[in-house]
Amino acid sequence: MNALPGGTADEARAPGTAGPAGGDAQPEGEGPSAVHVRGLVKTYSGVQAVNGIDLDIRRGEIFALLGPNGAGKTTTVEILEGYRSRDSGEVTVLGFDPARQRARVKNRVGIVLQSVGVEQYLTVRETITMYAGYFPQPRPVDEVIGLVGLEDKSGSRVIKLSGGQKRRLDVAIALVGNPELLFLDEPTTGFDPSARHEAWDVIKNLAALGKTVLLTTHYMDEAQYLADRVAVIAAGRIVAEGTPATLGNRELARARVRYRLPGHAAPPGDLAGPVQPDGFTEFTSEDVTQSLHRLTGWAIDTGVSLDGLEVIRPSLEDVYLSLTGAASGDDGGGQPEPARKAHGRKA
Ligand code: ATP
Repeated sequence: MNALPGGTADEARAPGTAGPAGGDAQPEGEGPSAVHVRGLVKTYSGVQAVNGIDLDIRRGEIFALLGPNGAGKTTTVEILEGYRSRDSGEVTVLGFDPARQRARVKNRVGIVLQSVGVEQYLTVRETITMYAGYFPQPRPVDEVIGLVGLEDKSGSRVIKLSGGQKRRLDVAIALVGNPELLFLDEPTTGFDPSARHEAWDVIKNLAALGKTVLLTTHYMDEAQYLADRVAVIAAGRIVAEGTPATLGNRELARARVRYRLPGHAAPPGDLAGPVQPDGFTEFTSEDVTQSLHRLTGWAIDTGVSLDGLEVIRPSLEDVYLSLTGAASGDDGGGQPEPARKAHGRKA
């Protein structure tokens, strides 16, 4: 598997846990889905981490998995990567079963973990060249350096890179084997705002290359910006799935219009509303275009200004919080984490 310096395989696979009888749902190595999951279940010594997940990720798609701590995201992704066994369910990754056909999946996926322990005293170019040597058909090293925007740092030692630059190197390492599918685990955690936006550009570049990307994130703006589709997972189940714009029917929610008025000016009744503690007048509207036209027309005619005028719809974060509020699965229980997580799977 690409980009797993220091990575260790998961626990020994229990006998008889290698997936469903009856074989793959798609022809080997083909099929429209990059990832196809049905009825995935995983329990750790009584802790139900994944409880019947269905997932389809199309080739060329950027797909984000969202969910609170302990929801089952890492377990799901590690099963897809072939690093963890499943109790039951059907899983194909690029048409292969990662449990039974791991070798077939291995060189076709790239993994960017939260912290990858690369040799600190090699340069960026030496590091990527070294990883290129592990793959039968690597991408040209200079092209990869360009894709992640590290041209200026290609001769710098890893130890001299900033956090954001190290993360780009992680992506470069995952990319050099020319994988079809990339797993990005919280790719921008700990970044400053400009480093995050730079990392987003890198990820968008991957999509432009036709790669499929599965990322986990706790940042709603990241999912909003990057993902074609998102799934929210809570307590081991998918509780909502859709585009960032339509998740939880958020596009259908009534808009709130807010503004502040000087003095005692009063707009027509349906364009007024209760004055909030922050001094804003607020009303909801089913036809925002109409309402705004009338409201701004009234303001111009009357010669008043509508300070701070804004239209608000539920954000992805609002929808996420309402979806996960009732179903959070972080019980803090379970057994200790296995070696892979403890050894740098998560920073
Ligand atoms: P986070 O956002 O915190 O990374 P997550 O969504 O990735 O969380 P998982 O790591 O998949 O969640 O964990 C799901 C559940 O399984 C949690 O209740 C967790 O405590 C439990 N769990 C995970 N790994 C193990 C393990 N090796 N042994 C026992 N329980 C585990």
